Amino acid sequence: MYDFSAQDPTIWNAIQKESNRQDSVIELIASENIASKAVRAAQGSVLTNKYAVGYPGKRVYTGNEALDVIDNAAKQRAEKLFHAEYANVYPHSGTQANQAVYAAFLKPGDKILAMSEHAGGHFTHGQKHNFSGQLYESHFYGVDPETELLDFDEIEKIAKEVKPKLIIAGASAYSHIIDWTKFRKIADEVNAYLMVDMAHIAGLVAAGLHPNPVEVADVVTSTTHKTLRGPRGGMILAKAKYADALDNAVFPISQSGTLEHVIAAKAIAYDEALQPSFKEYAQNVINNAQAMAKVFNADDKIRLVSGGTENHEMTLDLNATGLTGEQAADLLYSVGIATNKELLPLESGNTMEGIRIGTPTITSRNFNEDDATQVAKLIVTVLNHPNDEDQLNDVKQAVVQLVNDHPITR
Ligand code: PLP
Repeated sequence: MYDFSAQDPTIWNAIQKESNRQDSVIELIASENIASKAVRAAQGSVLTNKYAVGYPGKRVYTGNEALDVIDNAAKQRAEKLFHAEYANVYPHSGTQANQAVYAAFLKPGDKILAMSEHAGGHFTHGQKHNFSGQLYESHFYGVDPETELLDFDEIEKIAKEVKPKLIIAGASAYSHIIDWTKFRKIADEVNAYLMVDMAHIAGLVAAGLHPNPVEVADVVTSTTHKTLRGPRGGMILAKAKYADALDNAVFPISQSGTLEHVIAAKAIAYDEALQPSFKEYAQNVINNAQAMAKVFNADDKIRLVSGGTENHEMTLDLNATGLTGEQAADLLYSVGIATNKELLPLESGNTMEGIRIGTPTITSRNFNEDDATQVAKLIVTVLNHPNDEDQLNDVKQAVVQLVNDHPITR
């Protein structure tokens, strides 16, 4: 990176601090990852200087010859990667991708039906503190109280009562394969559009390790920075018949200029995900998560929500430890393990009685199943002995060893 420490020591030093933090922490936040050097180089390139308003061949400003190449490549690679008839790679984030889809398919006041936040849904799927719950009439489905899995009979019942215009499938904290065809059937029964937000699992879908929602949904949104391992950003995939409406909903309805440096980085990330090595990476993400789940399942106090994981993440119910999610996340962070507090499907309030754990980042650092097992054991030790300074110090030492043995090389 260009050394601007003399020009702006405050920002330079903060970036060094963050870089050191990333090196020295076992990062288990399920929505994070490590983008490649090529992705990060594109993001720091001259492309940030250039305004591109509108689509290739129909730009508002002159001088977009190189940008047309980048935009077309990004779009084509996204379509190839996800077998999609149409891609829009301009959304600045997952939230803006969702916003654009709602703008294309809904009018203010229309009904949407999505997964509740307690069950693992995202707040841009209709929560009242977000524009989606303020502009649209939102209704929610949860999970089965016994199994903590999606209950399609119940979802069908709610859909028939509510008669939503749009059903949203997809989650931020759900650890199982989602059968999109069941959502499709329910959407068809109530004459609703089906949107899938695959932000969390996009990398697993790209690798062929989770059913591809593009085959059955009307429209699919995603971020590009989670399991997909690209730059921070969003995208939309859809059937070709929605192309004009979605293009218009992104620009001019919800965005002006593109973040061209990010579009270039997305193009690079799509190409990386098309390589055979990405499939291997995604499989290791799942293997590592399942290795950790085995350790948590063997502990008496920690309860794995739904009893297992089939993807990159899991949620731990900490009630028997006496710790809230926030206390547990702070405690773990104090020994160098980063997680986040999480709502549990069945908790009655909003305390956040659990923590969420994901393996995309440690897998990008080449942690294998033995390493992941060791990390899970360290977590169990910490959560079972929150006040035992000796044990906490031992865990801290083990974390240092693990991060030193697995330097970030990407
Ligand atoms: N959709 C889902 C399912 C998510 O998990 C997230 C982010 O956590 C988003 C959308 C929002 O993405 P962004 O933070 O890029 O706006």
